[in-house]
Amino acid sequence: MSDHQEHFQRFLDAGGFHATRQRLSAAALIFTVRGHHTLDELYDILRKNIPDIGKATLYRTLKLLTEAGLVLELHFNDRAARFEVVDPQKRHDHLICMNCGAVVEIQNRFFNTVKEQLSEEQEFVFTGHTQCLYGLCARCRGNENTTTDSAIFGRISTGGCCACNAYHE
Ligand SMILES: [Zn+2]
Ligand SMILES: [Zn+2]
Repeated sequence: MSDHQEHFQRFLDAGGFHATRQRLSAAALIFTVRGHHTLDELYDILRKNIPDIGKATLYRTLKLLTEAGLVLELHFNDRAARFEVVDPQKRHDHLICMNCGAVVEIQNRFFNTVKEQLSEEQEFVFTGHTQCLYGLCARCRGNENTTTDSAIFGRISTGGCCACNAYHE
């Protein structure tokens, strides 16, 4: 059993959630998927192995995995939530182009320094962190059809953020 799977089982037991066969097999498969996927994309991937899985079960499992800190819920430049399995070896943040939707994963050691400082100053213990930085990629900055700055800020403020757990279908 993988570390993630063990962690999930402990999380379910501790929270009094049912460790149903479907939840456990869905989680086991989700842990093998790399990248950022919407609920619909994950549903298509999982259905190949678990034909009788329901979308509601998958969504509930993703929510439990997010609560357990094993999956991140991210919001890029569209309304759909995207899910990514947390890999402690490859922690990263995301640069998101608001025009073309390009997503670049970055590993920034400065964030870690800032987090350490904040943790000390605020006596705050971090249990998780997701970061999406919004802007325009180099290609879109050179394109005159690209959305203007004010429109971009408008989209950012209405586009939801990583900390928001709202799910829009
Ligand atoms: Zn772009
Ligand atoms: Zn990522």
